[in-house]
Amino acid sequence: MIDTLIKNAMVITVDPQRRVFMDGAIAIHDGDILEVGPSGPVCARYEAAQVIDAAGMIAMPGMVNCHFHLPQVLMRGINDNTDAMHKLKYYIWPVQGHYDEQDALVSTRLGLLEMIKSGTTAFLSTGLHPRYGLDAIAEAMIDSGIRGVISKYVMDISAYALDSSALDPGLWETGEESMRQAIALIEKWDGAANGRLHAWFSPRSVGGCSVALLKEVSRLAAEYGVGITAHWAEVQNNVDYTLEKYGLLPAEFAESVGLLGPNVTFAHGIYFTDGEIELLGRTRTNICHCPVCNTKLAMGIAKVPQMLAAGANVCLGNDGVPVNNTADMFREMRTALLIHRVNSGNAEYPTAAQAIEMATINGAKAIMADRVAGSLEAGKRADVILIDTHKPHIYPVYDPVSVVAWAANGSDVDTVLIDGQVVMRHREVLTLDEAQILADAQARSHKILEQAGVRPNLVWPLL
Ligand SMILES: [Zn+2]
Repeated sequence: MIDTLIKNAMVITVDPQRRVFMDGAIAIHDGDILEVGPSGPVCARYEAAQVIDAAGMIAMPGMVNCHFHLPQVLMRGINDNTDAMHKLKYYIWPVQGHYDEQDALVSTRLGLLEMIKSGTTAFLSTGLHPRYGLDAIAEAMIDSGIRGVISKYVMDISAYALDSSALDPGLWETGEESMRQAIALIEKWDGAANGRLHAWFSPRSVGGCSVALLKEVSRLAAEYGVGITAHWAEVQNNVDYTLEKYGLLPAEFAESVGLLGPNVTFAHGIYFTDGEIELLGRTRTNICHCPVCNTKLAMGIAKVPQMLAAGANVCLGNDGVPVNNTADMFREMRTALLIHRVNSGNAEYPTAAQAIEMATINGAKAIMADRVAGSLEAGKRADVILIDTHKPHIYPVYDPVSVVAWAANGSDVDTVLIDGQVVMRHREVLTLDEAQILADAQARSHKILEQAGVRPNLVWPLL
């Protein structure tokens, strides 16, 4: 008797052969996928305690969101109309610089709820600050049932690239203290919850870290066997900074401090040159493309086709909710397809299949979880989402791959399993109190702005 059998689904496996079963089944026991194949033979082989009839549903690996800011979720929509630096300096950082632990926890829970409800089963959250309450965030993640990586900011310079006044004083940390807390987070939480939770280093920015600190991060990440994530080459300011200070382009500077490789995930990477992209591909460095954020903020277009051609592992992320405004990975897939097609004038590339790869298996690689997640195949943990296709905006269904990349939305996800556990069934999240989370978020939203002296950027007056 096995735990769970999902049957009669259109299964997009993203396995090495990229098999798609139009009437498929998935056998799951103790959180592991035992077998994926046609419903008839698989169902004949197993008797299950729980049978999920997924007729009319697409089963696929859960999305992996490789760039997210848990504490920013409460700032959804506070300013939709300025560029990245303005938004960070005058909105996001002042608000976060006044956060207390409860603010960060409410934001975290809202983010976890939104991700699970839109089919994200694993994520990488960039830098946390001690004022957010690191242990409570780790515990909230574990309780939600999601798979993920949290990372602790490290810094020893209070500037952001060439701007010495950008970062709110409430977010400053010394090198010694930020490293001590990062190490404590890793020692306490990396590998917790049966390996669902991991903890990494997150250098705050190129201008926020000395060469000595970055080299120490590289050394310690290797020693602990953990990853490193950072914003890199996201704005022109980053390029100007490394060129002016070190005479190197951002990826060259990263190489000089030991910050390239399969355990490194850079967010954005918009300003990498062709030479840097070759270097990133050669070192198998991961780049998290954030297409909705990059287009909304008019940041520029990352050279994703060149990155893929160079062998770099390109995955997808939402970045922060204030720069997006959702955590829906279906939007990221679609936006990536749209911007790279119009940018290259080529309607054949990238494809729906490539968008799904970036959102699943490539993401799992980027968070160093591809041995357990990112595809549906025997031996991996069961991180599975079921997408309901009984919808006017989806019917008729010719090809489930097309449906996922071009037509479906996060709100079409009906059921979510993570590590074999059903965490959402028929859109009800079983591990989180949705009504309470929404009430807490609305109650906190005005408080966090008032305590920071920030007002929402409105286009029309709210009467
Ligand atoms: Zn970010």
